[in-house]
Amino acid sequence: MTFGTPLSLLQIPQQAIKDVSIKLSDPKANVAQYTQDCKSINSLKSLVNSVDYSCARESTVDVGYICKKCQTVYPAKDACLAHQKTLCYPTPPENIQPLLKLEQIQYECRLCTDKWSTVQEYKMHCQGESHKTKTAHIQQKISPSKSPATSHSTVQGTTQPKDSSHTPTKSLSSSITPSPLPKNDSKEDQKEASD
Ligand SMILES: [Zn+2]
Ligand SMILES: [Zn+2]
Repeated sequence: MTFGTPLSLLQIPQQAIKDVSIKLSDPKANVAQYTQDCKSINSLKSLVNSVDYSCARESTVDVGYICKKCQTVYPAKDACLAHQKTLCYPTPPENIQPLLKLEQIQYECRLCTDKWSTVQEYKMHCQGESHKTKTAHIQQKISPSKSPATSHSTVQGTTQPKDSSHTPTKSLSSSITPSPLPKNDSKEDQKEASD
């Protein structure tokens, strides 16, 4: 038997609890969302630069399922349904969604695929080295090609051999793609050979 947590004891902001309570009294509502800092992704606009802002997206995390009658939160849907069957709604209610799914919205950096609960944490992430390295690549792509590498390639072009089998792109892709699969066939061959 799984025990639920009263909504009022949940570790979420008071404002979020208020918003969720409103949803609980709405018979048609079946999902409620909140952020840990009661802000939205729009708040990031004034906190980070445009590139970092474009990397941000909302990501929802399942927190639990709330029984609309007694406002108890269960981490799993099954547990909430089982509770309702025995206590709050022995017979399925009509014209009402008995469950309210609770979701937390987090701020995700799509470059780094990391998530944070507050806009401040997201801002801190954008100041980190690993994130800055990634956005630097994007900014290079956006800005017009002023890179000195273009002059290099023209020099290479004149001396490039006609042998197409030695193209650098080919060797590059093969070095990136790992081949983790061991050759089982050869091993079995060896076994048979030793017998
Ligand atoms: Zn209940
Ligand atoms: Zn990032």
